[in-house]
Amino acid sequence: MSKVLVLNASYEPLNITSWRRAVVLMLKGKAEQVEHNGKMLYPDFPLPTVIRLRHYVRVPYKEIPLTRRNILHRDSHSCQYCGCTGDDLTLDHVLPRSRGGGDTWENIATACVRCNVKKGNRTPKEANMFLHHQPRRPYSSLHFEVAKHVKSGTHREWQKYVIGL
Ligand SMILES: [Zn+2]
Repeated sequence: MSKVLVLNASYEPLNITSWRRAVVLMLKGKAEQVEHNGKMLYPDFPLPTVIRLRHYVRVPYKEIPLTRRNILHRDSHSCQYCGCTGDDLTLDHVLPRSRGGGDTWENIATACVRCNVKKGNRTPKEANMFLHHQPRRPYSSLHFEVAKHVKSGTHREWQKYVIGL
């Protein structure tokens, strides 16, 4: 069943919830509808796809683990040097580990085996290979979740509420 993006009172994305929970929040007067998909739940009550809380909620920042899976997801499962996608994706240390490059969001990028081997123990500049996107830390785990829904096409209407998509 369809999911609903919940915005804070400030219009920043807060979380993703079920449509049932979203409807309850609206019926209790805790949230207002921002977008709907045109399908009617009741007469004059379209099914929401984005709602906004009436009162601001403070949320602590949740750290996203630096894992292979998360890096591949950040890089849209494509080689950051040649753009190819496939099963042979590896993780490349932009500044090689042997030369002091660390395991950080900013220093690890997705690369296909061919590009990784070609680059070897060099920096992108030395290898004359350039990154499509400068690797960086994701905004938040929610940003990750929203990006998945937008990219897969299930909730394209969420895109305008999230930066950097
Ligand atoms: Zn490549």
